[in-house]
This record gives sequence, structure tokens and C-alpha cells, in this order.
Amino acid sequence: MEETPKKVEFDEGKVLFFRATSSVLRAVFSFFMPGGLIILVAFLLTRAPIVEAVSWLPRFYPWIVLCAGLFLGWRLNRSQLVFVVLVLAVVDRSLLVFAGVNVGPGTTGEAVYNAVAFLFPLNLVVFSFMKERGILSLDSLMRLSLIPMQIFGVALICQYPKLGFALYLKHSFFDWAVLSKISIAQPALFAFAFATFILFIRYVQDRGIIECGFFWVLVSGFFAMTSGKFGSASTIFFSTGGLVLVIAVIETSYGRAYRDELTGLPARRALSETLYKMGSRFAVAMVDIDHFKKFNDRFGHNVGDQVLRMIASKLENASGGGRAFRYGGEEFALVFPGKSVDETLPHLEILRKRIAESGFFLRGSDRRYQKPKNPTKNKKSRDKTTVTISIGVAECDEQNSTPHQVIKAADKALYRAKRKGRNRVCR
Ligand code: GH3
Ligand code: MG
Ligand code: MG
Repeated sequence: MEETPKKVEFDEGKVLFFRATSSVLRAVFSFFMPGGLIILVAFLLTRAPIVEAVSWLPRFYPWIVLCAGLFLGWRLNRSQLVFVVLVLAVVDRSLLVFAGVNVGPGTTGEAVYNAVAFLFPLNLVVFSFMKERGILSLDSLMRLSLIPMQIFGVALICQYPKLGFALYLKHSFFDWAVLSKISIAQPALFAFAFATFILFIRYVQDRGIIECGFFWVLVSGFFAMTSGKFGSASTIFFSTGGLVLVIAVIETSYGRAYRDELTGLPARRALSETLYKMGSRFAVAMVDIDHFKKFNDRFGHNVGDQVLRMIASKLENASGGGRAFRYGGEEFALVFPGKSVDETLPHLEILRKRIAESGFFLRGSDRRYQKPKNPTKNKKSRDKTTVTISIGVAECDEQNSTPHQVIKAADKALYRAKRKGRNRVCR
């Protein structure tokens, strides 16, 4: 039976405000969790008197992180992780051996410390840009050789102080009191500032878990370098940096199984788990794009993919508290926790209308769809196209008491919507 939707009354301004606030809070939360929190814990561990109480930690911690990083990097084919845990281990050990003993002016310890502080952030920037090519590829082995090359370079700097590189690495460009309070030399400080900027921009652009991990590895490296306690605090910080990236890689791999790569929506597996946690009051809407095969045939698969993304983002922002999932192909699901079919219908109708009315512009069958800068000009050369969706919705009740039955009922309703001519909502 087709339902005439009721009018929904809500303050559009308030909804937009709450949506914006919650998305900012979500962004801040996902930036700090878990990397920021883990580093905060490391920070507390390095404070007196805790650091004395956990003096056994630096003996095991770095080796556990190194082994975990190498093993995961190998099993999940993540060369970035392998490089970073290796660099962290090399940096930690070299500071322990050289700078840990003596960092007085003109000593080898000082030269090693300044060189490491300068090179470490730059290495992170380089590794963060690396495309994944697998661990045992020639590419990766060549990249891996960067590490021994740098060790060799630092050894040369220490061996031949007359070359003057050690002096460059501790050169003071600015005579600012604030800079002299930080224990690392100015060239290294600039390298850290540069890396912070680049890694933060990379995170803002991609919002990736790994990109976020890289940022926190840098932060933890900075704390390590400025801790002044080589062997205890610095080792805890370097190891924690590795741990953050190990966790980021695990999270990414786990997320891949639950998230659809094309649209960024949670995938079918996530839907099943969500429904089983839902209780007995919820509604599910199955959404299917109309005549999508023809659309693909006409405009090409790439344009089709762009449309899937556009529809996914509209579903994600659907009103009524619906949670969007990609069910598969050109089908999506919206789950409304705690709602009946009657309560979802007005929101689904708004969604259907919003998609049907949102045209997009094509400049040719092989081009990506895009809005023209000035829609009133060049109308002839551009082709405005629309897509429509059909929606079938069902709720959990006595007849359909399991998630599987509710989805099946929503699917049947979707079939009715298609039969009745598409671009409509049916229950
Ligand atoms: P209906 O209105 O009855 O739903 O017709 P339809 O053509 O949408 O339905 P059908 O199930 O016959 O075709 C679905 C099409 O969706 C087939 C396939 O080309 C397209 N499709 C599925 N997944 C993707 C995808 O990831 N990207 C693109 N571009 N197309 C996809
Ligand atoms: Mg379909
Ligand atoms: Mg379809």
C-alpha cells in the first residue's frame, strides 16, 4: 500500500546547526582518538615518579613494538609501517648509544642528536607520501636503503667534523628566547614545523587513519627528542609512536572489511551487525537507483560511480536519524533505530524528492559529472541529467521479527515501488 507522506515539521536552521556541530565534534574526536590519547598516556608514564616505577618498560616495549610492526607490515603488506618502526628503532638506539652518554658542545653525541632530530621528521614526511608497493618489491628495497644511507651520512658527519655539517645542524637562525627554551636546534625545529604542517594538511585532505597515525608519530617523536632522558622517556615516546601506527594499520584493515571503498559508507557486513544490535523497534528502508544499468550504458561506469557517491552523501545526510549503508551494487539501506514505518515515511519522501530534483551536469559521456561554474551560460554544451530512486520500507514487528525478515519485507516493498513506476516510496 502506498502511503501519502505527512508533512514533517522541523526547524531547518537548527537541524543544520546540530549537523555542523556534530560533524566538527566527530572530526575532532577521530583526530585525537586513539593516537592523541595513547600519547597522553605515554606522557604520563614519563613523568616522575611513574617513570621510575615503570623503569622495566623501556627494556621490553621497543622490541615488542618493533616485532609487532615488522610482523603486521609483512602480513598486511604495509611497507610504510615497516619503514616507520625501523626508523623509530634506529633513532631510539642511536640516541641511546651516542646522545645518552654525552651531548656536550662539539661531542659526537651532540652531532648525532642534531642530525637525528633533523632527519626524523623529514623521513616521516617522505614515508607518508609513499605509495604502497608491497614489502618485497624492488621499489621497497630501494626505499629501505634510505635508512642505511642516512646512518652512513650521520657517521660521516661525526667522523669528519671539519666538514662543518655538524655546525650547520646546530646553527641558530633567530635569536628568540622562546626557541632557546626548546632543547633541539633550530634546523631540526624547522624540520619538525615543516613536517607538522605537511602531515596535518595530509590528514585534513584524506581524513585517513594512517595519515592521522603519521601525525601522532611525529608528535611522539618530538616529545622523545625534547624529553632529555634518553633510554627511559625517549624510548617510551618512540615506542609509543610505533604503537600508534601499528594500531592505525590494524584499524584500517578492520575498517576495510566494514566500509565500502567507493562511497565511504558502512558496508553490508556492518549493516548485519548493526541490525542484530538493534532491539525490537526499528525500520529499514531499501533504496535502489532507477534504471541504473541504462545510466551506466549511456554515460559510462565512471559517471555511474560518481552518481553512487552523490547518492551516498545524500543518504548520509538524510533526516530522521536514518543510518546509511551500501547494501551492494546500486542498492543502499537506511536503518532507523527506534522508528516505525509511519515515522520514517516523511523523511524518505524528502530524500526521494531531494535526489530526483538534484540535477547534475555532464560535459560528455566520458567526463566526470560536475556543476558548471555559471549554469546559465553554455547550456547547449552541457547536458543536465537527473537520477531517481525507489524506496521500500518495513519495520520490525510480529510478522517480521528478525533483521533478515525485515530486510526481505523492505525488499518486497521496493519491488512494489519499481512495479508502480519507480521514483516512489512504498511500504
Ligand atoms: P531498476 O530500475 O529496475 O533498478 O533497473 P536497474 O538498471 O537499476 O537495475 P539492474 O539491477 O538491472 O542494474 C543494476 C546496475 O547497477 C548494473 C550495474 O551496471 C550497475 N552497478 C552496480 N554496481 C555498480 C558500481 O559499483 N558502479 C557502477 N557504475 N555501476 C554499478
Ligand atoms: Mg538493483
Ligand atoms: Mg536499480
